[in-house]
Amino acid sequence: MTSPKQGFGDHHNDDAGASSAASLLRINLGAVAENYQILKSRLSEIACAAVVKADAYGLGVAQVAPILAAEGCSTFFVATIDEGIALRRCLAPEAIEIAVLNGVLAGTEEAFHEHRLMPVVNDLGQIARWHAMCERTGIALQAMLHVDTGMNRLGLSPSELDWLAQNPQAMVRPTWRCLISHLASADDPDNPSNAEQLARFRIARSRLPRMPASLSNSGGVFLGPDYHFDLARPGIALYGGHPCGGGFRAGPPNPMRQTVQVLGRILQIRDVEPGMAVGYGGDHRISGKGRVATVAAGYADGYLRSSGGQAHVYLGHTRLPVIGRVSMDLITVDVTSVSEGEARPGAFVEILGDQVTPDNAGQAAGTISYEFLTRLGNRYHRRYVHNG
Ligand SMILES: *Cc1c(COP(=O)(O)O)cnc(C)c1O
Repeated sequence: MTSPKQGFGDHHNDDAGASSAASLLRINLGAVAENYQILKSRLSEIACAAVVKADAYGLGVAQVAPILAAEGCSTFFVATIDEGIALRRCLAPEAIEIAVLNGVLAGTEEAFHEHRLMPVVNDLGQIARWHAMCERTGIALQAMLHVDTGMNRLGLSPSELDWLAQNPQAMVRPTWRCLISHLASADDPDNPSNAEQLARFRIARSRLPRMPASLSNSGGVFLGPDYHFDLARPGIALYGGHPCGGGFRAGPPNPMRQTVQVLGRILQIRDVEPGMAVGYGGDHRISGKGRVATVAAGYADGYLRSSGGQAHVYLGHTRLPVIGRVSMDLITVDVTSVSEGEARPGAFVEILGDQVTPDNAGQAAGTISYEFLTRLGNRYHRRYVHNG
């Protein structure tokens, strides 16, 4: 599904002379900022954190996080302590809190404290570890507590929750910033597991000492106020992904703006005749007289092999099929339907953008927007723009 809002404009080729780069990755920080405000508007007065793990889903945390902070975001989630340390270098102010989802591993307590990071503790052992750290330092250090409500990935199991509910003294030392849980199917509003997890989360909450609560990822924000509690934790929607599994099923159009545009340069155009084979293995056979463009994008750019023969790119507003296999650094595109003046060496095709969203590209490759974005790689010439 294509977002109705066009963030990058129609002129794909206005950068053509500006760079010798084979291909361009443009990241629109203005669209990230707008997505944050769209999410906030769905949350009324509820606080909105930002999940910036995996280098802000591939967009670049050093550029993205300060933009979000400027929009008023003061709570950030990363996956690992190393991501937390790197983020703290970008966001020094005391008012900015950084939570580490993977929890506090043995021997990392000092680093958490030194870099002012907050662990999201996932089991009783981690609670004991953080408790001991608070006793050693004499400080009621902050932490979040993760309870599992049915996803079976991270968080206290039901039996650990039982134990903790009966032994609240095990958690007296830290300052409990938030109780969190994670929804397994928030991108599917009709899935009954959402309501089941909500019910379990409410029960867990009622059994533990009072603290703020957080349940919703991107999809959860759109499940309605019952799911909002005190803090939301969107990730993919900030970066333009459809919060409700966009593209995979009929549903409302994606409310988020596209933040990423990938333009691949045409390197060569060739005339082809029926029966000719294109690319490795000769998988694709030409069925009629036409033209094929070879475009600079491949594995090292995160262009997945499974896109071959499945994906589309755009030249201007014309949708063109990617034919044959992805071959290392190159893809081949059938450009028969566009004029020779348009499809020429040096011109750019849109590989990702307003017309080929990460949801579209992910679906064509048999994956999802998350994987497509986080694999974009470092070879594209990266340019940050700020279009409101
Ligand atoms: C990754 C993650 C999120 C963000 O999820 P999105 O689907 O990208 O919005 C929120 N909470 C937790 C615990 C996560 O691991």
